Amino acid sequence: MMLRWYLVAAGTCVALSFLVPDGSWWQVAVQVLTGYLAVSAIIAGALRHRGTARAAWLAFAAGVGGNATGILVEAYSFHVNAEYESPGWPDVGYLALYPGLAIGLVLLIRRRSEGHDWGALVDATTVTTGLGLLAWVFMIRPAIDQTDLSPLAHLTGVAYPVGDVLVLAMLTRLLLGGGARSAAFRLMIASAFLFLAGDVTWAVLNTIGVEPGPAAHRVLGAVFLLAYVLVGHAALHRSAAQIGETAGPPPKLGPGLLVLLTLASLMAPLLLLGQIAAGEVTDALPIAICSIVLFLLVVIRMAQLLRQLEAQTARVRELSRTDELTGLPNRRAWGAELPAALERARRDGAGLAVVMIDLDHFKRFNDEYGHPAGDRLLKSAAAAWSGQLRGTDHLARYGGEEFIALLPGADTAESVAVLRRLMAATPLGQTFSAGLAQWNGVETSDELVARADAALYDAKRAGRNRVEVASAQPDTDARLTPR
Ligand code: GH3
Ligand code: MG
Ligand code: MG
Repeated sequence: MMLRWYLVAAGTCVALSFLVPDGSWWQVAVQVLTGYLAVSAIIAGALRHRGTARAAWLAFAAGVGGNATGILVEAYSFHVNAEYESPGWPDVGYLALYPGLAIGLVLLIRRRSEGHDWGALVDATTVTTGLGLLAWVFMIRPAIDQTDLSPLAHLTGVAYPVGDVLVLAMLTRLLLGGGARSAAFRLMIASAFLFLAGDVTWAVLNTIGVEPGPAAHRVLGAVFLLAYVLVGHAALHRSAAQIGETAGPPPKLGPGLLVLLTLASLMAPLLLLGQIAAGEVTDALPIAICSIVLFLLVVIRMAQLLRQLEAQTARVRELSRTDELTGLPNRRAWGAELPAALERARRDGAGLAVVMIDLDHFKRFNDEYGHPAGDRLLKSAAAAWSGQLRGTDHLARYGGEEFIALLPGADTAESVAVLRRLMAATPLGQTFSAGLAQWNGVETSDELVARADAALYDAKRAGRNRVEVASAQPDTDARLTPR
């Protein structure tokens, strides 16, 4: 409701700004009223949405309020002195917009990002350095070069474009960070961009020495009025409450962002080429400095991405080797371990046993207590068995309710003793059958595992809840017999 009235009032003001005579008090009234309407809307919105980025909204209100007051003060100075010379009190009001916007944006960035988002920071620094160099060449240096001004006027002239770059930096960082892109967020961003667009247009017109005609003047004025209206709209929008919320990861390094980063990184050489083509290199030092900075930023970003890739690769590798349910190594990881273990056993002349373990009547357990209870038993059995093994033993989930263990350095008697301990440690009175194969010193990993498997089959056939030791030679019959 409040939003609708605000939009009607603010829209009327913007429309009136085209109808009232240029340079009249009416125009001042309409412009200042639009600004103050926006300030009221922001404050009302900030008070309505408790605890959400209120400080940020209040900073925006202060910036916009100062800016609108600048219009009023300028008109008054003009009225009193018949002529207004910058700098003066109006500039204080106008310039208040930059710290207001910048502080508000910083507060939003801090609320919306979880921890430090170094990627977004480096990207935003890259974009700001590239566009900052552009602003230097076309806005800031021309302002510095105006040496016919008083020191204060000089400083004021430079402060505007510097303020633009500051806001641009914050805006870029905010856009490259995470957080929900709600309607209020987009309206607020659009408002900040309109302020910047208006400023840049003025600065460019000043630099090339063009005084806009009355119609263009009105349109430019309306750009700032629209910026006021949009930030007020953002604050009153029902999604304003979520503007400070973190949601989802930061945007990906997609094609759009890559193009932007590439253009920003190429800004220094492009400007240099432009100045060479124009016949005079006026900004060699800033261009050289920005080239170095941009190059370093690209290297930092590359290093960041590589480190991220390494961490992800390690994580994927870990996942591909681990059984999700029990946390034990899976069959693949175990299989990769076996040849090296055989090699070590061969070298050391030590014993090595492979045991295959299969829970007895586990289907019945599932049927009786449910699949989730079966899962819990698999987990607790894996944990209990791991607790009974030495650090050098390798227990893995082979699949389903089958497990396999590698016991380096163990002879048959020791391996049987280990299996007795595992049987005693199995939770809920669950039993298992096990096939034990002692490495004979010549067979391959596959042959060794096949003998353990055959022995397990024998253990099942012999009545379960027992350990069967495989004969030293492969039992061809047992392997061919279907289970
Ligand atoms: P046997 O004594 O002959 O080994 O009988 P069994 O019932 O244990 O063997 P069978 O091969 O007939 O069935 C294995 C059962 O193990 C079937 C399946 O429900 C259960 N199982 C396999 N993987 C999982 C799992 O991840 N979670 C649960 N809860 N059960 C599983
Ligand atoms: Mg079983
Ligand atoms: Mg089985």
